[in-house]
Amino acid sequence: LLDGQVVDDHQITVCVRKRPLSRKELNRKEIDVISVPRKDMLMVHEPRNKVDLTKFLENHKFRFDYAFNDTCDNAMVYKYTAKPLVKTIFEGGMATCFAYGQTGSGKTHTMGGEFNGKVQDCKNGIYAMAAKDVFVTLNGPRYRSLNLVVSASFFEIYSGKVFDLLADKQKLRVLEDGKQQVQVVGLTEKVVDSVEEVLKLIQHGNAARTSGQTSANSNSSRSHAVFQIVLRPMGSSKIHGKFSFIDLAGNERGVDTSSADRQTRMEGAEINKSLLALKECIRALGKQSAHLPFRVSKLTQVLRDSFIGEKSKTCMIAMISPGLSSCEHTLNTLRYADRVKEL
Ligand code: ADP
Ligand code: MG
Repeated sequence: LLDGQVVDDHQITVCVRKRPLSRKELNRKEIDVISVPRKDMLMVHEPRNKVDLTKFLENHKFRFDYAFNDTCDNAMVYKYTAKPLVKTIFEGGMATCFAYGQTGSGKTHTMGGEFNGKVQDCKNGIYAMAAKDVFVTLNGPRYRSLNLVVSASFFEIYSGKVFDLLADKQKLRVLEDGKQQVQVVGLTEKVVDSVEEVLKLIQHGNAARTSGQTSANSNSSRSHAVFQIVLRPMGSSKIHGKFSFIDLAGNERGVDTSSADRQTRMEGAEINKSLLALKECIRALGKQSAHLPFRVSKLTQVLRDSFIGEKSKTCMIAMISPGLSSCEHTLNTLRYADRVKEL
């Protein structure tokens, strides 16, 4: 369906990815309500009842830069989303790639890598594929003379607090200096010389993220995970370019603000706030940013430097579950992604 042409002149790219129905969903005869009629279009066929109770399908049509059908693999998604942004960080810019969507829609599968049962193979995730291309580009003829050093970090934002996934989920403070430079104090930043070293860090962070949680009460669905690749000139602390990959909290958590449990309610409000602020910050990418709500949430605060600057580029992959029972969440996801698109 996709014809091999990769558009990379956009500052903001917004895509949608439909995952296949799972075995469990097939077993319970879940209906697939999503179609991808074109490489840039996705439709939701929502079953509804008229007043006289006769049934009809309401068809919702959405257009994006790319729409990935359930036959696309991670490599294909990567090629059209994060891959074109790798050169941005070598050219001195900031790049970001967000995975957005409800819990179970495929965010972690896309970013962190496919699951073989409970174990995650990080090699085919977007983090790893991008890291590989960073090293290919670093050692290629074009940028070799810049003598850049690569480092990586991996942290989680949970209920407005930052935890280092490369240091036993140690809680970290975020500081902002007078020049609005934001710093995560004490964040582990490992210098890496090869893809293999990065893969080890990703594996470590992925495992830290899911340790000690049950599927019924999954922390990872209520936290944003941020994996970053930073380039610096050798012997300098100044950042040349940075690529941030964000596996966002499940967006259905943001609407869950009516829970009886106070903690759950506060988490929901925090997630809601961060996703709304994120939308505004992306929409204003590279534009005059004095009034942007960076400080409204930890997520947008720590990503501040990625939203400013003319060279900044962002892609968002909106993930959707194809089943009828997810229809409402799917429409919410698509409407959000639609609002993020460049005007
Ligand atoms: P999320 O991170 O959005 O909550 P996950 O990435 O954990 O969702 O995916 C939920 C389940 O669906 C996992 O078991 C995952 O392996 C499976 N899955 C997600 N996307 C795909 C896909 N594109 N192809 C096959 N299985 C997928
Ligand atoms: Mg996840």
